[in-house]
Amino acid sequence: MTPRIRELPERVRNQIAAGEVIERPASVVKELVENALDAGATEIRVDLEEGGVRLVRVADDGAGMESEDLRLVFRPHATSKLATLQDLDHIASLGFRGEALASIGAVARARILSRTAGAATGFAVEDEGGRIGDVVEAGAARGTTVEVRDLFYNTPARRRFLKRTSTELGHCLDVLQRLALAHPGVGFAVTHDRARVFAVEAAMELRERVRRLFGGELAEALVPVAGEDGDTRLGGLVAPPRFARSDSSRQMWFLNGRPLRDRTLLRALKEGYRGFLVEGRQPVAFLVLSLDPRQVDVNVHPTKSEVRFREANRVFGFLVAKIRAAVTATDMATPGERLLASAHRRGDWRPRAELAVYELPAAPAELPAAPPPSLVPPALGDASGGPFLQIARTYLVRALADGFEVVDQHALHERVTFEGLRAELARGAVETQRMLVPALVEVSRAELELLGAHLPALAPAGFLLEPFGEATIAVHGLPARLRHPDPEGLVREVIEAIVRTGRAPGAAELLEEVLHRAACRSSVMAGDELSPSEIRALLERGAALESDQTCPHARPTRVRFTLADLERAFHRR
Ligand code: ADP
Ligand code: MG
Repeated sequence: MTPRIRELPERVRNQIAAGEVIERPASVVKELVENALDAGATEIRVDLEEGGVRLVRVADDGAGMESEDLRLVFRPHATSKLATLQDLDHIASLGFRGEALASIGAVARARILSRTAGAATGFAVEDEGGRIGDVVEAGAARGTTVEVRDLFYNTPARRRFLKRTSTELGHCLDVLQRLALAHPGVGFAVTHDRARVFAVEAAMELRERVRRLFGGELAEALVPVAGEDGDTRLGGLVAPPRFARSDSSRQMWFLNGRPLRDRTLLRALKEGYRGFLVEGRQPVAFLVLSLDPRQVDVNVHPTKSEVRFREANRVFGFLVAKIRAAVTATDMATPGERLLASAHRRGDWRPRAELAVYELPAAPAELPAAPPPSLVPPALGDASGGPFLQIARTYLVRALADGFEVVDQHALHERVTFEGLRAELARGAVETQRMLVPALVEVSRAELELLGAHLPALAPAGFLLEPFGEATIAVHGLPARLRHPDPEGLVREVIEAIVRTGRAPGAAELLEEVLHRAACRSSVMAGDELSPSEIRALLERGAALESDQTCPHARPTRVRFTLADLERAFHRR
């Protein structure tokens, strides 16, 4: 028998469509709270039971709905936010597809109770698994309450995909925290199984909200971001790199009040923190972007978590510059207090090796006759002043106004060398140190071929390479800032970069992939003897940088102990 085609009944259609928007209780929370925000609510109350599976109830004090609206509210593609296709060009509301309530009603037992300011009474309507009831009169305060019970009760296959209560609750709270942070001016109160989970008052600004949700230590350390480019405006707060986490749960972008996980925006944030974070760590930041709705397409995905910018490149450059400016203004010092605390916990707070301690004179230093290029100091100033101790030929200790700091000379020198290279690369003028006798690096014929095509592109970056015979590269010159360059290692890393990307590494990649590691290997190694003047020059150089608190791999270059730390360590507090 040939199969017969027939149209699916509306209920089934809605159940299928629900799969796109309603994945789990957190999706219900998101859709209902967004509706409340679109309705102009200033107070939103959210009650959850069993991670939201048993109940999600969202009550708002927004505009409310008339009884005629309630007759349509559970119908698919019924919306008050969009009338024509042209409207899609300048969407300013969070919703607009008119799918959420129809989808929710199709896969749960839903009830809406609502009253507008002008109406004498409220009205209610129910939708049980796609069976929409009549609109009935019901007593109600102004605003809307939507109750969603027993999610996926009629779609067992989907219900089986739900996780443990704590996991589902976690997803709900993540959504709620993001929405609460995105909407200063709106109060949120959230309960789970009748216990209060969190609340923020309408008047609280972003920093106060962060304090309430994530604590004072983070809130205090945040630095504001601010910038404008035409009608694109960036605001919000960024945390010092030491707050970075292994997950991205405290990394938030809000675009015109919409929390999202857009790839362009996440990349801009990563770029803004480049060089200040250890591999794999996620920065903590709360960023508020507003731009003309015409400049961005939010109708890319049913959940609207990704968007498309009309001028992606312009927006990206603007964001990176502003974020970076704020990140470098954060307090990047690694607090000694934590080290003390963890050393106490381990019970090993005593010197482990013999310390070779000697004092350096505070008098202005004499420069060595021929300082290596990266150690030439500008005029000596306060940054390098005061006496130092050098311990174990590795650590420099010096007094600060309110404590002292310990500098890892190797890590600091890495940063200094790296920043010097970065500046030269950006200018397109990397100083090359020519070798008297070229270093020969054996490669395979395939590698020689691969590299051969890209040699001219590498010269401006300070790499003077030439094929030599059938399977050898002659290294005639390398960036002058590398003190003890390793020609073989550098050539290998260049080849690897070409294999990975299929082209000669550009300035930025060279810096990140190749010179990054080279800077590490070629700097003053821990244990190198440094003269007093070299130490001064090193500190002076560091102080002149955008940031000298971490090495290029984001390990700290220095640890700071304040008086307060010392007082705690000696139990004076
Ligand atoms: P959308 O938000 O995309 O328009 P929904 O299915 O989420 O679609 O909601 C349908 C319509 O119901 C909305 O356009 C709005 O007019 C109305 N509505 C939903 N929730 C509320 C609410 N909390 N307050 C007032 N009106 C609401
Ligand atoms: Mg909606």
